[in-house]
Amino acid sequence: MSEEMTMPGDELATSEEYISGQGTYEKDGIIYAAVMGKPEFNQDDKTVRVVGVKSNSVLKAGDTVLGEVMNVSNTMANVVISGVEERPGYRIQGETGVIHISKVTESYTDDVRNEYRTGDLVRLRVIQASPSLQLSSREPGLGVLKARCSRCRIILFNRSGQLYCADCEKYEQRKLVDDFGMYSPEFRE
Ligand SMILES: [Zn+2]
Repeated sequence: MSEEMTMPGDELATSEEYISGQGTYEKDGIIYAAVMGKPEFNQDDKTVRVVGVKSNSVLKAGDTVLGEVMNVSNTMANVVISGVEERPGYRIQGETGVIHISKVTESYTDDVRNEYRTGDLVRLRVIQASPSLQLSSREPGLGVLKARCSRCRIILFNRSGQLYCADCEKYEQRKLVDDFGMYSPEFRE
C-alpha cells in the first residue's frame, strides 16, 4: 500500500482489506486508483479513496483525444487520455476523463458496457475540460478504434464491418468509429 501519489490504474489494496471509495474502482478483487492523486486509507470505515490533484488540464473543449478505456459501469466509462489527435506526438500523462451514458451514441443506449469494454482504444471529443474532463462519442468519427475480445483478450478483427474474434468464433458489439476498418485488421477465411 503506497502513500505516494497514485496514477490511474495503480493498485491500492484488495477488496478484502478495504472498500472502494471515491476516486477508485474495483476489478477482480483489487482496488485501483481511477485518478491521479493522493490515496487515503480510512481505518474506521475501511474505505480507500484517492483525492485527485488539481491539474491544469492542457485539454480544451472541442479537442479530439485518443485514449484507453480503463473501467466501465452500466452508466459510464473511465478513459485514460494518451494524446490529442490535432497534436501528433504530444503525450499526455495522468489525465482521465469520463464518458457518461447519455454521451455514448447518437441514439439511445441502456448500458455503457454494450458499447465500451476495458482495454478498448478510443477516439473521443472533449466536451468539458474543467473542473472534470467530460468526453463524448456522439459523432460518427468517434468511438472504438481497436478492441480486444472480452473473453480471450486478443485484438478483434474487422469482419465485414463487425468486430470478430477468430479464436472464440464470436462477434462483439461496440460503438465503433465510422472508419474503424483502417485501424482493425481485416479477417480472412
Ligand atoms: Zn476471443
